[in-house]
Amino acid sequence: MRVWNFSAGPSMLPLEVLEQAAAEMTDWHGTGMSIMEMSHRSKDYMGVRDEAEADLRALLSVPDDFAVLFVQGGAQGQNGLLPLNLIQRNGSGKADYVLSGSWSVKSCEEAQRYGDIRVAGTSGQSWQDQGKEWAPWTWFPEPSQWDVRPDAAYLHVCTNETIGGVEFNDIPKLDVPVVADVSSNILSCPIDFSRVSVAYAGAQKNAGMSGIALMMIRRDLLGHAMDLCPSAFNYANIEKQQSMFNTPPTYSIYMAGLMFKWLERQGGVAAMQARNAAKSEALYGFLDASEFYTNTVHPAYRSRMNVPFLLRDQSLDALFLEQATAAGLTSLKGHKSVGGMRASIYNAMPLEGVQALIDFMTDFERRNG
Ligand code: PMP
Repeated sequence: MRVWNFSAGPSMLPLEVLEQAAAEMTDWHGTGMSIMEMSHRSKDYMGVRDEAEADLRALLSVPDDFAVLFVQGGAQGQNGLLPLNLIQRNGSGKADYVLSGSWSVKSCEEAQRYGDIRVAGTSGQSWQDQGKEWAPWTWFPEPSQWDVRPDAAYLHVCTNETIGGVEFNDIPKLDVPVVADVSSNILSCPIDFSRVSVAYAGAQKNAGMSGIALMMIRRDLLGHAMDLCPSAFNYANIEKQQSMFNTPPTYSIYMAGLMFKWLERQGGVAAMQARNAAKSEALYGFLDASEFYTNTVHPAYRSRMNVPFLLRDQSLDALFLEQATAAGLTSLKGHKSVGGMRASIYNAMPLEGVQALIDFMTDFERRNG
């Protein structure tokens, strides 16, 4: 039996993608072997890789002057690899970071090992807006307030804070290249590559399984790595070798490719954007109408992917989770740093799953409210 899996990542995959992978598991396209047994240099596997890249390019309309890389080390690995590759781009050794929650803070802390890092804007304090006080990390620092050094090698932002449930995609046009961690909202909406020069994402939420990070990087930013950057993590080397400088996680790339085909069949990123709006509006609408549950994120910055919510009576948390699991709704426990619940509703979660959650929550409130 399949459950509605609200895990933040690795997260639910479409059943038809899993069934295709299962059907191809022991004999991929009549080759008599699994994709995971195949040389990464074989013509068949190179075809799988090339198609995955072409499909990702098409889905996100990635311009030709951007390289598409499949890199290792996950998204957190890039927290160190990005400065190693970019911070000496213009010889300044400087990079600026916008802080909007746990993941951007982590990125910033790691980068400090490699250069002169400064905070360009932060939501780490409370903010008065719309006659209300918004707690730290429940809003996003407005671009007009960002203080970016003109000689910074790049400015880093996280467009979706998976833990706090804060999303911001309206990146301004800046002279300094913008590097965006899009791990938890990639392929859920378009990326404007005239404003974002590097976008990277762990694959395990909206693009298949863990093992790779997807990276779109403007080609002129390649080739500036510091001498101490490991060769296998030098983005220019990875690009030259078509993401095969060393043996890549071949199965993860294959799974990402199956997800890209599935996304195409759904109608692409525009269709997903509409579907994600409908899903998140249904859930936030329900939370806002309730006296029993609450979401504390500023309405302008609420994530369409990760919806944290609290039961006003937190003594009911354990019962809520136990009964939700029994009803086939799993992985709803919020991150330990914020408590409460979190429903991650990535591309693979249909409206039907969100409706099942709302129905359960309505019923739980009726019985315990
Ligand atoms: N950035 C964001 C926004 C994330 O949500 C995550 C994972 N939850 C990461 C970075 C870290 O990803 P990884 O585990 O692939 O290093």
